[in-house]
Amino acid sequence: MEPQDALSRRIAAIRADLEDEYRQPHRDPWIVGFSGGKDSTLVVHLVFETLLALAPDERRRAVHVVANDTLVESPLVVAHIRRVLAEIDHAARAWRLPVRTVITRPAEDQTFWVNLIGRGYPTPNRMFRWCTDRMKIQPTSRYILEQVAASGEVILLLGVRRSESVTRGQNVRRYDNGERLNRHNDLPGCMVYRPILELDTDEVWEFLATVPPPWGGSHDALIKLYRDANGGECPVVLSRDDAPSCGTSSARFGCWTCTVVEKDRSLEGFVEAGFKEFGPLLEFRDWLQPPDPAFRPPARRSVHDRQERRLRTGAVHVGDAPGNSRASFRSPA
Ligand code: SF4
Repeated sequence: MEPQDALSRRIAAIRADLEDEYRQPHRDPWIVGFSGGKDSTLVVHLVFETLLALAPDERRRAVHVVANDTLVESPLVVAHIRRVLAEIDHAARAWRLPVRTVITRPAEDQTFWVNLIGRGYPTPNRMFRWCTDRMKIQPTSRYILEQVAASGEVILLLGVRRSESVTRGQNVRRYDNGERLNRHNDLPGCMVYRPILELDTDEVWEFLATVPPPWGGSHDALIKLYRDANGGECPVVLSRDDAPSCGTSSARFGCWTCTVVEKDRSLEGFVEAGFKEFGPLLEFRDWLQPPDPAFRPPARRSVHDRQERRLRTGAVHVGDAPGNSRASFRSPA
């Protein structure tokens, strides 16, 4: 059942815009950033519908649906992402759509554990959040740049919405050129397209709750995921401007190891909803959480802060790093 009135008109306008952009006379591939959250799910849903609405000989541009796995994702979220990508993949093959699903991951030497244990970095915190760039931005950026190298230019579709947050609204205003496509600030050859920019949260939910995905099934699992996780989401992060929304104090899906947040409300929500097996992950995350600097003795605090500053600027060696583990533990035997 389609939503009625104002929302159906807005969705119809978005569908027309997507179709018009796809029909442009060039072959630049589309890359859809997929976080498994509601906004990027809606974008993939509408893109899939756009392809189905076109005649087979009009589907000339490749569409890559790209998710990133930090390798320390919340287990239920990463399972959901894998399941949806498999469904999309299956349906795309059956319909012969030019869709490719991809999961990017951090380079082997940039994973959470390599940096935490191997390099001895402190657990990420607001002042030194080394993780977002290495585990989220770089893997997906690398994939995008590979596609730019192969095709000359790509169009990146993001489920960004102006009303998502004050910060997001400010970023949108700062980089908006008034056109449908904006040049990406950090990725040459990448144009950014935000088809659902003007939708609000209620509209996104109303659509997802009433219109089944074109690849089959329903969006019920997504709705349940949000309900169980106290409404959390970690969005696709593809630039340093977006990074502050990753690991904030609001309830968000994110890495289960995330110590940038005081409490992992989404994982707590999953445990409260009956997924007791994730209780030990919560306890381990709390154990990783560095003690409040206010409780460290002043002398030790200043040494720690100085080392952390030097580490951030690259002026410190691994063995000196102020991480959670001793150098002897980190050094090879
Ligand atoms: S969710 Fe937390 S640990 Fe994961 S990349 Fe974001 S800030 Fe870092």
